[in-house]
This record gives sequence, C-alpha cells and structure tokens, in this order.
Amino acid sequence: MQRRSLIKSLGGLMLLPAVAKAGLRPAANELRAGPTGVSGAAHALRIAHITDVHLKGDLDAPRHFADCLRHINSQEKKVDLILNGGDIVFDMNKENLDMINAQWKLVHQLMKDENAIPVRYALGNHDIWWYENDKGQATYGKQFSLDQLHLPRAYYSFTQGGWKFMVLDSVHLDVDNTWYIGKLGDEQFQWLDQELKATDPATPVLILSHIPILTSTVLVEDNIVNRWEVLGGQMHTDTAKIIALFYQYPNVKLCLSGHIHLREKLVYDNLTFLCNGAVSGAWWKGNNRETAPGYGLIDLYTDGSFDEKYVNY
Ligand SMILES: [Zn+2]
Repeated sequence: MQRRSLIKSLGGLMLLPAVAKAGLRPAANELRAGPTGVSGAAHALRIAHITDVHLKGDLDAPRHFADCLRHINSQEKKVDLILNGGDIVFDMNKENLDMINAQWKLVHQLMKDENAIPVRYALGNHDIWWYENDKGQATYGKQFSLDQLHLPRAYYSFTQGGWKFMVLDSVHLDVDNTWYIGKLGDEQFQWLDQELKATDPATPVLILSHIPILTSTVLVEDNIVNRWEVLGGQMHTDTAKIIALFYQYPNVKLCLSGHIHLREKLVYDNLTFLCNGAVSGAWWKGNNRETAPGYGLIDLYTDGSFDEKYVNY
C-alpha cells in the first residue's frame, strides 16, 4: 500500500515500464498491466473472501465468526463486498431438518447483527441436503440453501466496480451418485462460455468457486511413498477444460476457492488461483496444518490487477 501511494504521489513521473511477460498465453498478454501497484490503475473495489465458515451453535463458532465479521467491517479501508465461498453452515448433508434450520438461523442472525456489507454466496458441499430418506422433500438437494439465500440458481454473475464476478456451482453428484465431485457439468459450462463471450474484453473477471479449479494443496499429505492420490471431490475434475476456456479470455484474472481449509496462492502462467484457507480453520479446532483461521482481503484495480493477502482475524 505504501509503495502504491508513493508512486501515485509522484504523479506518474515514476511510472515503471510494464513488465509484459512473454508467457504462453496468446493475445492481449501484452495489454496486461505490470506488477500490481506499478501500473497506476485506479482502485476499483475491496473485497473480503470468506469461505468454509461451517457455522454451528457449538465449538465457540458463533463468537469466532462474529469476531471475523467485525474484523472485516472495521477495516480502515472500507470493504465493498463480501464473497462467501461456501460451506456456509457446518453441515447439512445428512442432518435432520431441525439441525439444518438451527444452523441457518444462526447464519441469518449473525449476518444481521454483525455485518453491514453486501454479501454474495456460492454453495459448498456442506450446504447441500442429500440424505436419501428425504429425497421427496421440496427443498431437497441445493434448493434448501438457495431458498435461504434467495438465489434462483446456484451459479450466476454480476458486475460491481467495473469487475465482472462469476459465481460457480462446483459441487455435483459423482457418476455413481454416491458422493460428490468438483465439476461444472455441460449446462453450466455452456453458460460460463456464453457469459465470457458476452463480457467486454476490457472488463476484468473474477471467478468464485467452492472447490478449487486448480490447487496444489491436495499434495500436502502425510506418508506419501511414491504417489499422491487426488480425489474428484478435492479439486475440479474439469480443470483442463475450464483453463482452456479461460485462456480464450485474457480478462479472466483471478479464481477464488476454499474447501481445502489451506491457504494457497498458485499462479499458472497468467492466471492466479487463491485458495483462501477457512474462517473455521480446522473446523473450529485451531489451525489446519499451517493455515490459521482467516479470510482473504483483496483490492481490485480497474486494469485487472489486484493486491491480496490472507488475514488472521
Ligand atoms: Zn469446508
């Protein structure tokens, strides 16, 4: 921040040459701004990315989540938007309705009492109700959470501060219908393709998903001998297809996810993937490996550049 304001105060005299990396990404590559803060682009908006809150009545979760919301709401430089990346409630997969209702009641209460910033939500794997015995219910599956959040659909887009946000629905039943995997499915993929086509190439795009599209956190495992096993529920299974699509649209700048409860910044050529830990840390039992409970704080600029950090609240 200091560096940015210093450069700004020099009135552009000190503008450094843009470092256009000769990456593999075709077209518009050269148009990218130099390293964040150097291009002199105007600030667009500040977002807080919270994920994996896993809210429930015990484990001191309500008190800690309230602390987190206060922390975000009291940032000196105002946060314009909160993105909640899913696993909003502790777990509703095979829970009974009373338990599910109690968790959601707590969400609404805390958001009302402790938060004054607009919030947009993505659904996580724990925000889906899929106990076989309840299949006949109208709110079965994702519908329950969609109703709670007044969302017509689990994937959607919106524009704010000159950035386009695309919220993905990354949790779907596996091929054998017994568990979930990370993917978009044909219909949503088509939608994403159309949305990107319809977006002005000068408008920077941020992608929000619960399950990471690409992550190396899944490799941080104990007792590996000579191979790692990555499950389809840990990371998107359609990674290559999605990345190939994003490469047709150089205005896709940043992909946010959670799910793993580990903090990671991964740069794949010119695409940045942030896996922003978890508000709940290790499901409200301290740190998860090296990652403390926290949230992502991201400043977006009009030229598609950004500054970001992971904040322990
Ligand atoms: Zn989670």
